[in-house]
Amino acid sequence: MVHFVGAGPGAEDLITVRGRRLVRQADVVIYAGSLVNPGLLCQVKEGCRIYDSSRMTLEEVVGVMKEAEAAGRDTVRLHTGDPSLYGAVREQMDCLEEADIPYDVCPGVSSFFGAAASLHLEYTLPEVSQTVILTRAEGRTPVPEGEGLRSLAAHKGTMVLFLSASLATKVKEELLAGGYGPQTPVAIAYKATWPQERLIRTTLERLPEEMERNKIRKTALIIVGEVLHGTAARSKLYDPGFTTEYRKGREG
Ligand code: SAH
Repeated sequence: MVHFVGAGPGAEDLITVRGRRLVRQADVVIYAGSLVNPGLLCQVKEGCRIYDSSRMTLEEVVGVMKEAEAAGRDTVRLHTGDPSLYGAVREQMDCLEEADIPYDVCPGVSSFFGAAASLHLEYTLPEVSQTVILTRAEGRTPVPEGEGLRSLAAHKGTMVLFLSASLATKVKEELLAGGYGPQTPVAIAYKATWPQERLIRTTLERLPEEMERNKIRKTALIIVGEVLHGTAARSKLYDPGFTTEYRKGREG
C-alpha cells in the first residue's frame, strides 16, 4: 500500500498525528527533498529505506513503489504542505491505479496556512475580501488560458502565489495591469514555519526590489491583498445584534 502524506509547511510538529504515525510505520519513505523537513525522517523505524524524490523521475518513484508493493512493504510518499497543491500527485495515482496498487492520502497543513499563521493573517476579512485565489505565475510550467494573473487580478480579492518567487517582476506587472493598485499590501513569506522563516511586508510596487534585496528566489509565497492591513469590520457571526442558528441576537 502507498500512503501519500502531507508533511506540513516545514516545522516538524506541523505534520498531522495520522501522518506522523504513517511515517513511523513505513518500510519505505520517498520524500520531496529540500521542501520536506529532514527532521521528520528521524522518526522512521529501523531498516526503513529513504529516497529523495528531487533526484528522481516519475518512473523511478513509481518503480520504488512497485518494488516495495511486490515485497509486501508499505510506502509513504511524503509531500510538502498538502499533497493536493502543486504536488504532482495525480500522475503518481494514475500509475498506481494502472498497476493495481492501493493507495490513500493523508492531508497536510499547506504552506499558505503556515504563512497565514506566521503573519497573524485572516485571509477572509468581512467587507475586505471573502475570496482567496491560490495560483502561480507562468514560468517554465504553462498556465491554462483564462488563468493568467492579469485576469485573476480583476477580482482584487486575496491572492496567494506559489512557485513565483523568481518571477516577482512579472507578478508585479501582471497584477498592476489587472487592477490591483501599486500600494496594495504584499507579504513575502520565506520558509514559513521553518527555523529560517522570514516575513517581509511591502507593497505591490516594491515587490521585485524587496525580493532582490532579501535575495529570495525560492521557497516563498507571495501574498497580495488588502487583508494584510489587518483591520477588520466586525463579523456578523459574533455581532450581538445578529441571530444565528445557535444564538438569538438582541433587538435594536
Ligand atoms: N503542496 C505544497 C506546495 C508545493 S509547491 C503546499 O501545500 O504548500 C512548492 C511551493 O510552495 C514553493 O515554491 C513555495 O512557493 C511554496 N512553499 C512550500 N513550503 C513553503 C514554506 N514553508 N514557506 C513559504 N512557501 C512555501
